[in-house]
Amino acid sequence: GFVYAPAPQATDVVDIRSSYGLFIDGEFVAPEGDGFRKTVNPATEEVLAEVADASPADVQRAVAAARRAQTEVWGPMPGSERAKYLYRIARLIAERSRELAVLETIDNGKPIRESRDSDLPLVSAHFFYYAGWADKLGYAGYGPDPQPLGVAGQIIPWNFPLLMAAWKLAPALATGNTVVLKPAETTPLTALHLAEIIQQADLPPGVVNIITGAGETGQALVDADVDKVAFTGSTAVGKAIQRSVAGTAKSLTLELGGKAANIVFDDAPLDQAIEGIVNGIFFNQGHVCCAGSRLLVQESIAEPLMERLRTRLSTLRLGDPMDKNTDIGAINSAEQLERITALASAGEEEGATRWSPACDLPDRGYWFPPTIFSDASQSMRIAREEIFGPVLTTMTFRTPDEAVAKANNTPYGLSAGVWTDKGSRILWMAQQLKAGVVWSNTFNRFDPTSPFGGYKESGFGREGGRQGLAPYLEVTI
Ligand code: NAD
Repeated sequence: GFVYAPAPQATDVVDIRSSYGLFIDGEFVAPEGDGFRKTVNPATEEVLAEVADASPADVQRAVAAARRAQTEVWGPMPGSERAKYLYRIARLIAERSRELAVLETIDNGKPIRESRDSDLPLVSAHFFYYAGWADKLGYAGYGPDPQPLGVAGQIIPWNFPLLMAAWKLAPALATGNTVVLKPAETTPLTALHLAEIIQQADLPPGVVNIITGAGETGQALVDADVDKVAFTGSTAVGKAIQRSVAGTAKSLTLELGGKAANIVFDDAPLDQAIEGIVNGIFFNQGHVCCAGSRLLVQESIAEPLMERLRTRLSTLRLGDPMDKNTDIGAINSAEQLERITALASAGEEEGATRWSPACDLPDRGYWFPPTIFSDASQSMRIAREEIFGPVLTTMTFRTPDEAVAKANNTPYGLSAGVWTDKGSRILWMAQQLKAGVVWSNTFNRFDPTSPFGGYKESGFGREGGRQGLAPYLEVTI
């Protein structure tokens, strides 16, 4: 007979402390101001732990530790030695990936299948990849290694907490910089467990410092004595940071929001395209900067495609993120849920047609059903603003030129998707689209060897690939 096996309890595989201090100079220390904030499981609203709030004085302590470590230890160290530490971190992450995947899921709300099969493998792959660069930065033996910038202040969002930490830390460390990293206030736990791994890997104290807190802590880090600010987050905060560093000698890279077009031509492989559309907007509850949030469909196939899409959506399972069969987990916070709800209401008020499959939302926690808007127009808020949730806005086009014009009609430029059977059209579209990444007949495909980053208000600078080294070096390789 069929035996119902309950999802494993998070506490079976991960040891969560009730309280976390700041990771400064190789140790967990109490915050000077004694401030703490709670982090909750967004699927249950249960408190997971309390986490320190770093004051400006704490931030300065961390930056001073990073400065000392950079000038005395990490900067002068040969790249081949730095590589060994990075390989060690990569291996330890791979070994502890089950624990980290569970922690990510309960702190963020994303399905365990995604944190296990997508986030965690990409995190260790990123460290492995940049470990390989650490001893290859010299000009093919013709000169000394290019110099690092010094101390990097890094600020990351809550949607891929550990992966964003890896994207920031690995290239900075490989190039000889030291780091003060601030995770987002709703998802600090995996970064704090990464701090334990950094201890386990015997990284010299001060090379990596992890300070927790909200926007004020981030602002204090931007204002501190750092040589480089690397920020991933919203365009509004990115612009504020840009204003803060203007007139200083600090180097800046910004990875900001997006409103990507996923463009389906009438000759597209439809089965694949349906999966790509679903993955494009419902992966990670749509909390993805490069999410395919605007679906542009060629008019002649719009109706049959929408019907198939609705059928496919009816098979998605929303619920307990710890259940391996779950496709759509919890929204990360009450605040984000409010924002998604408000934008979806605006879509209805502006006259678009709203549709969601029948689905029961759990009583506790933060949830939003997968939602599709059709009959949308370019001027509506749901077509212009980043919703950062499981909401797809659909529009149609007739010609490739019209598809390009509509796709580029946004202040953002992070990514785009093109679905067609015609190779020449893929290449033409890739040239026309003003987006840092163009996927063809796939979506949300990531690899540490590929540069990722935006055009226009999606930011500047690249992460990943050889190009991801440049933002941390005085001279580009
Ligand atoms: P957010 O800008 O509110 O917060 C991001 C980080 O900045 C957090 O750690 C936050 O504490 C900190 N912060 C807030 N105010 C600050 C200030 N004044 N000074 C310094 N730091 C400050 O963004 P969010 O809601 O956490 O993340 C969602 C956004 O991130 C979306 O817009 C998304 O598109 C973007 N994002 C972009 C990428 C990318 O690679 N381009 C990747 C992931 C997320």
